[in-house]
Amino acid sequence: KIYLDYNASAPLKPEARDTAVAALGIGGNPSSVHQSGREARAIIERAREDVAILVGGRTQDVIFTSGATEANNLAIRGFVPEGEPRRVIVNGTEHPSVLEAVGDAEHLPVKADGVVDIGFLQRMLADRDWRNCLVSVMAVNNETGVVQPIDEVVAVAHAAGAKVHCDAVQAAGHMPIDMLERGIDIVTISAHKMGGPRGVGAVATGPGVALNAIIRGGGQERGMRSGTENPAGIAGMGAVCASAPSYGPNVAKARELRDRLEVALRETIPASVIVAANSPRVGHVCCVALPGVPAETQVMMMDLEGIAVSAGAACSSGKIKTSHVLREMGLGDDISGSAIRVSFGWNSRDEDVDGFLEAFHRMAARIGS
Ligand code: PMP
Repeated sequence: KIYLDYNASAPLKPEARDTAVAALGIGGNPSSVHQSGREARAIIERAREDVAILVGGRTQDVIFTSGATEANNLAIRGFVPEGEPRRVIVNGTEHPSVLEAVGDAEHLPVKADGVVDIGFLQRMLADRDWRNCLVSVMAVNNETGVVQPIDEVVAVAHAAGAKVHCDAVQAAGHMPIDMLERGIDIVTISAHKMGGPRGVGAVATGPGVALNAIIRGGGQERGMRSGTENPAGIAGMGAVCASAPSYGPNVAKARELRDRLEVALRETIPASVIVAANSPRVGHVCCVALPGVPAETQVMMMDLEGIAVSAGAACSSGKIKTSHVLREMGLGDDISGSAIRVSFGWNSRDEDVDGFLEAFHRMAARIGS
């Protein structure tokens, strides 16, 4: 079996498994004052520090959630209390959990290379007839690997008095986030994209940002996210965050594998189109289209060969549709409907590329591409 779908979910890292399993054995409720409660609490607080270090934020400003979907909803819907005036501007290639967090978000377009149009943002913000404005731009796109110029977004937004939310799900563990140093106001991450458990994520806020809870109840997580915490998931997330600096060699390895894959695709399958090939991109993602062959067909044929890849964003529960990310970049249905995503990570090997290429060639030959 060959796993090349890290951007959908990375395999669990051994340290995350060990830490999570140990935490599962602790019986207490983290809010209880007795000893087993305090043990569970200690696990959560330790993980909170590890998350804060990874994002470059303050420990007390990290809020654990059920994943990045909830984290993005909290970041955006919680930015201003319900009913108060606010303005939300979102980049058009965001994950649906950002795009759909509020119904009245304004659309920030990307250029043909997939990078947000900073001049457009500047013009949007020139009209200062609003209060409480949030600009949401992701660090790295999940489908194409395109890296957004977050420092420029922060500079333009702050100059106009707006704040910045950055979905750093696909950047975490691959590059430094440094939120305080760079002035990013709200960062969201997810454990399972970095080799942690699924179903746990976090929001980290910077100075001067006070979110409003969207899940209310017992007041856990400083009232920001009620509900008994998930110590095992949180512990596993802390463990991957703590080991992230050791990702260095893995990051370089992933880039080497991705580059070799793309060179081979260009040389041997001239019909293939590598999306965002000349854009600023992370090293572990290859988005490749085989025009005329539906992405779903490719994914199924590769699966029959024992190879896991995805069509655009795999996380959207088996929906068959063309990629909104590629359409935003101005690509037609021939590309956006026929693009698959190959993504590498901490445990990727040379054999994965070899196996993928063999199977891809067999598929292309069978289809006549
Ligand atoms: N943002 C991005 C950029 C993602 O890739 C994903 C996962 N597909 C999410 C948010 C949602 O994360 P989760 O699966 O933790 O809800």
